[in-house]
Amino acid sequence: MSTFQAPKGTFDLIPPRSAVFLAVREAMAETVRRAGYGYVETPAFEDTALFKRGVGESSDIVTKEMYTFTTRGGVSLTLRPEGTASVVRAALQHNLHKGALPVKLYYSGSYYRYEQPQAGRYRHFSQVGAEALGTEDPAVDAELIILAADAFKQLGLTKVRLLLNTLGDQECRPRYRAALQEFLRGLDLDEATRARIEINPLRVLDDKRPEVQAQLTDAPVIGDYLCDACKAFHEEVQTLLSIYGVPFEDDVKLVRGLDYYTRTTFEFVHDGLGSQSAVGGGGRYDGLSQDLGGPSLPSVGWALGVDRTVLAMEAEGVAHSAAGAGFGQSVDVFGVPLGAAAKAMLFGLVVELRRAGVRADLVFGDKGLKGAMKAADRSGAKYALVAGDRDLAADVVQLKDLTTGEQTPVAVDQIVPTLKEKLS
Ligand code: AMP
Repeated sequence: MSTFQAPKGTFDLIPPRSAVFLAVREAMAETVRRAGYGYVETPAFEDTALFKRGVGESSDIVTKEMYTFTTRGGVSLTLRPEGTASVVRAALQHNLHKGALPVKLYYSGSYYRYEQPQAGRYRHFSQVGAEALGTEDPAVDAELIILAADAFKQLGLTKVRLLLNTLGDQECRPRYRAALQEFLRGLDLDEATRARIEINPLRVLDDKRPEVQAQLTDAPVIGDYLCDACKAFHEEVQTLLSIYGVPFEDDVKLVRGLDYYTRTTFEFVHDGLGSQSAVGGGGRYDGLSQDLGGPSLPSVGWALGVDRTVLAMEAEGVAHSAAGAGFGQSVDVFGVPLGAAAKAMLFGLVVELRRAGVRADLVFGDKGLKGAMKAADRSGAKYALVAGDRDLAADVVQLKDLTTGEQTPVAVDQIVPTLKEKLS
């Protein structure tokens, strides 16, 4: 009988690489906590209608990529394909928007899309996201973009580029939409794309096929249609990014795959990732709350892809340092007992060391001295505690510095303070 494999488009996180994922999630989360964002956790599945209304009926996510199922009770649920709709749903449900604004929330978790799997594109992936609900202040757009850029930088990435655009608002976008539709109707496009012109013409700009892109060089650009308010808003975001040293590239064709965006949209891309180059993205979604039956709640947010950020760090050769930041399984001290009595004593010492905050492990099973020393080396420990019957009789343990090979006897009751000091 063959053994089971993880489902297509998914992968297991296992040591040592899993430590990099933890370090990345934590770095992203700590960056936004520092800016006053509070943790929110919503269910992995929601009413299907939430995503249909929230993400948009015409988006690829809703039309092709959702994992939807009917419960035994006859309710249609969908595994969350993204985080924003759920977060807005939760904020409205718990009346967070009736308190101080903006409501600043962040999340970290698994997301599910039925995509064609390839490098960097999975059916189960991991995001850290941040949302600021209930303010129209362009400084919040800038704050979020700066935080994301800082998180990537802190992880050691130097090749992340920021693409920036604005999509206008209810006032100016309809005029642009009409002009774009007129232009697109004159092009040589397949039937599905022609249908898209009528439903969501901006999405055609996002078409990756070269034969489509070649026809779009003279397409009308949003910048020529922006109302004064949207223009001023966008300039304020750009000014703040410039002042605080976050370079950006204007990308007038950046529309992103979700239907709810207004005004600011952005994407972070990494050039070492091939075709799936987006490591994060987001934007303003002033109409989403109302689309979900709530009050007007102008908001902005982003989601960063943890999986692709790890791939980007591996491409830049900086994943190793993140893994060393305490998220791996390596320990500082490793017990090497010679005999059963020494094993019992070292087991107790290791328990004490851990309770004192020291990362410690010992050899298990009957490995002999050579096997135990090998295990000590493999553990990453800086110090080994070696003890045999003679040491027990003298009430000492041999403290071996595994880097220098130097070995000194230390009284058993001095082991914890001695190691705490050496490792501080
Ligand atoms: P999106 O909600 O599509 O803007 O996604 C935000 C970020 O999540 C992207 O920039 C990617 O880094 C990541 N992401 C989205 N979809 C996938 C996927 N199928 N596999 C891996 N990462 C993804």
